[in-house]
Amino acid sequence: MLFKDKISIVTGASQGIGKAIADLLAQEGARVILWDIQEEKLKDVAQEIQTRGGQADFQQVDVSKLAEVEEAAKTALDHYGQIDHLVNNAGITRDNLLMRMSEEEWDLVFQVNLKGVFNCCKAVIRAMMSRRQGRIVNIASVVGLMGNLGQTNYAASKAGVIGFTKSLAREVAARNITVNAVAPGYILTPMTEILSEQTKHMFLNLIPLKKFGRPEDVAKAVRFLLSEDAAYITGQVLNVNGGMYM
Ligand code: NAP
Repeated sequence: MLFKDKISIVTGASQGIGKAIADLLAQEGARVILWDIQEEKLKDVAQEIQTRGGQADFQQVDVSKLAEVEEAAKTALDHYGQIDHLVNNAGITRDNLLMRMSEEEWDLVFQVNLKGVFNCCKAVIRAMMSRRQGRIVNIASVVGLMGNLGQTNYAASKAGVIGFTKSLAREVAARNITVNAVAPGYILTPMTEILSEQTKHMFLNLIPLKKFGRPEDVAKAVRFLLSEDAAYITGQVLNVNGGMYM
């Protein structure tokens, strides 16, 4: 087991990629703390993990609200005394062509995707720095690297996550904390389920491996970056995209 006695926070953990990450870290012995806005689903995920013999707690947290995030981090720290891993996975889309995009669609995506990462990192970084130990993985997107029509808000927020990741990596490296990003391509989750058949077909044509990714593919990349094997890797973006962007 890679993560025995480790405490891992995973945001957006009630479904999709976040759920797969939480599952895998729990299988590796970590106690996972699940954060999401969907309390009922969180409860189910925590129960599923516990049924399989894993250790899981959950807290209903809106990552876009700094006060809520700080309170949740404090609860976790009071309870367990340490946070070893933070996986910033919570993210949303509000797609529209720029011409039609509302200010609300722009702001909401930034509040969750980018400010959420800032909030969660801010809430745990002091504790990680004083222990001189910690690993942060931020979930970006292939779209943050290559752009996509109808996603100026989402692509800019994910490009922002990459810039944030590299900057924080430089700030905390001397304290033995690594900060990396994983940039998934097209992954089969509730987020992509809603896309039209035409859009799915268009994406498939862009993927050299000719198949969509699974949440587990992303979870395995996160596991690697959190592990001792990745101890000398920081400020990097690991693409998990079937070759869609090289
Ligand atoms: P998903 O199925 O929509 O899951 C995201 C989870 O985050 C949902 O449970 C969502 O709740 C939750 N969430 C939304 N806003 C939140 C907030 N303010 N605070 C806490 N939790 C919140 O998405 P996914 O496909 O698994 O994506 C996970 C991450 O990977 C995201 O950052 C996404 O941008 C990124 N990504 C996904 C793909 C893909 O192809 N699926 C590709 C590249 C990158 P609600 O359902 O209520 O919103």
